[in-house]
Amino acid sequence: MLNDPELLPPLSGGSLLSHLRRSPQYLGLLRWLGKPLKKVLEAYQLDKPGLFHSFLNATCQITVQCGVEEAEALFALSTLDYYFRGTQHIRGGLGELAKGLVQAIEKEQGDVLYTRRVKRLTRSKDRWLVETSKENFEVPVVVANVLPRALNQLIDGPVDDPERLKRWEKSVETGWGACMLYRVVKRPENAKPGACHIQLIQDPTKALQDGNHLFCSISGKGERDRAPEGYATMTVSTHVKHGDKRPEKIEEIQQRMRQGLKVLAPEWGESILYEVPGSPRTFERFTGRPDGFVGGVPRRAGLGNYKDLFPKSLSKGLYLVGDSVFPGQSTLATALGGHRVAHTILRSSGGPFPIDR
Ligand SMILES: Cc1cc2nc3c(=O)[nH]c(=O)nc-3n(C[C@H](O)[C@H](O)[C@H](O)COP(=O)(O)OP(=O)(O)OC[C@H]3O[C@@H](n4cnc5c(N)ncnc54)[C@H](O)[C@@H]3O)c2cc1C
Repeated sequence: MLNDPELLPPLSGGSLLSHLRRSPQYLGLLRWLGKPLKKVLEAYQLDKPGLFHSFLNATCQITVQCGVEEAEALFALSTLDYYFRGTQHIRGGLGELAKGLVQAIEKEQGDVLYTRRVKRLTRSKDRWLVETSKENFEVPVVVANVLPRALNQLIDGPVDDPERLKRWEKSVETGWGACMLYRVVKRPENAKPGACHIQLIQDPTKALQDGNHLFCSISGKGERDRAPEGYATMTVSTHVKHGDKRPEKIEEIQQRMRQGLKVLAPEWGESILYEVPGSPRTFERFTGRPDGFVGGVPRRAGLGNYKDLFPKSLSKGLYLVGDSVFPGQSTLATALGGHRVAHTILRSSGGPFPIDR
């Protein structure tokens, strides 16, 4: 039951009951609403520098996208045990989830159309004209899975709620870009057969960005479609300050990443079969994210995080999904967000809908 997406708003009768049953536990948390995690640590005398603090800082950075000093306490607390609570490695990589999603859509008689970039969205009476690089569609509902700024650029004319779109756009821009090293490396002799994830911090007194903090996902021995026998894929990322796409700066960060790997995880660098670097420009080009913003909206302290709990259209029949809207970044969170929006649309209009081509 606790894994039920209905537990997030919109609440059904059953999930409301489940929340009511748990409400005594929630009461103790209310005083931390909107406060930084740092305050919780101070209250329990856990705010000393050291390994535990570094662990919390690094976990906050890759989940709620900011450190202990800034992270909103309830969002941060909800993610801190994620290593121990059902986190999964996807055999074959994230693409396998995309394939599964496509199969599910096709099983329900839906169409998935590839290599069509949406170029413009225009409202005409009670429908939307969707112009793509190949053909056009007229549809009653558009669910846009792009960043707020990208949606703004696609829409021909204003939306009914421009303030909200502007607010979302600004909040994404308080976030991050990422630098990457995609490697295929020799598995160390004594490595366990399963997939593994390691976090490395070069200097715990410095900000967890620009190569100082590295998050590495390494494929398992059995994932033979990803790397040859005896080798593994190793995806290494670090946060970079927004908008910084200067080639010399990116090269400097990637060099720092290589140095950090060499010093802190030398066993995974003995033989590097190949390496492909990535940067905010890569994300901008290949995933259409303006300025290469990734990671959604950092959940910094403040009540603003709770403003958009309930999905709402931006104009009649126009919704935004993805990691810029509640509950935020990660595959699971974006899937939950999409589920909530689909639920809202179906409840308000009783779809499914015909599409004119
Ligand atoms: C380095 C890094 C590591 C991460 N690691 C993890 C992890 O281990 N686990 C996890 O759960 N999450 C992870 N995440 C977060 C996760 O990848 C994102 O939160 C998630 O991909 C966001 O999904 P989205 O649908 O919002 O956006 P996207 O994944 O960006 O999807 C949007 C899609 O829309 C397409 N598109 C854009 N514009 C158009 C257009 N005009 N027309 C047609 N199509 C368009 C894009 O090509 C893209 O396929 C990581 C993110 C980064 C940057």
